[in-house]
Amino acid sequence: MIRVTVVGAAGRMGREVCRAALEDPEVELAGGVLEPGSPALGSDLGELCGLGRKVGVAASEEPPEDAGVLVEFTTPEATVEHLSYGRPAVIGTTGLSGEQLARVEEAARSVPIVLAPNMSVGVNLLLEAVRRLSAELAGYDIEIVEAHHRGKRDAPSGTALLLGRAAASGRGQRLEDVAVYGREGISPRREGEIGIHALRGGAVVGEHRVILYGQGEEVEVVHRALSRRTFAEGALRAARFVAAAEPGLYTMQDVLSGTG
Ligand code: NAD
Repeated sequence: MIRVTVVGAAGRMGREVCRAALEDPEVELAGGVLEPGSPALGSDLGELCGLGRKVGVAASEEPPEDAGVLVEFTTPEATVEHLSYGRPAVIGTTGLSGEQLARVEEAARSVPIVLAPNMSVGVNLLLEAVRRLSAELAGYDIEIVEAHHRGKRDAPSGTALLLGRAAASGRGQRLEDVAVYGREGISPRREGEIGIHALRGGAVVGEHRVILYGQGEEVEVVHRALSRRTFAEGALRAARFVAAAEPGLYTMQDVLSGTG
């Protein structure tokens, strides 16, 4: 049995994690933290997350005393602010800057933190496949295309960057050195570049395509998240891992391989 507190509990992901936690007999939902001034402060988390019944835990501005593991899906600014709670955490928020990532690394010296821009098991398995395809199909041109709902703030997605890093590492390169974000005007393809493109619209939960174009064939791998539930379940899996881990910064690969 683990206790979790969902930070950003009124958001798309926050509500999904609350629901998944309330439906998981091995998880106790200890609290739900909302943005200061939110009109939903004080409301019952069961009703807030759409479970359709009260569960006797109210949304609050601060985590409760016995918060357990914090599961955070908010904004980069709020995520960094919440490091001051000094609690074990699972961070799903994407779009953190280099400076914000450094703050997470610093906090992870004293508490265990999983930082995972994509919590789905499928995407995390895909990373290794992409790394290998990129290495073996050395001369192929790689393009990454992602699509998300119209409300997503950061672009490209954290997952597209993870896939890009996997592809670059398969060729012994750093993504920073080979990435091209969208193209406009006169921009012929340079040898070895990795193109990354972001589509935004409607209600798309998350789609990622990695295409390797050869002269005589094209190889394409696709991942489609059909519901946010897949991320929520991954986040709870990561929370279980963090509850038993030593201080340090972990990835979803660590969670899936059980190293901690
Ligand atoms: P959203 O806008 O629906 O929800 C974010 C919530 O954070 C909002 O309810 C907002 O009120 C709340 N918030 C903002 N500041 C806060 C604060 N100081 N304290 C408490 N709550 C605060 O967004 P979303 O679609 O739920 O996505 C949230 C983040 O999670 C984004 O960065 C998104 O890219 C990321 N995400 C990650 C994964 C993954 O698998 N890692 C999956 C989906 C989304």
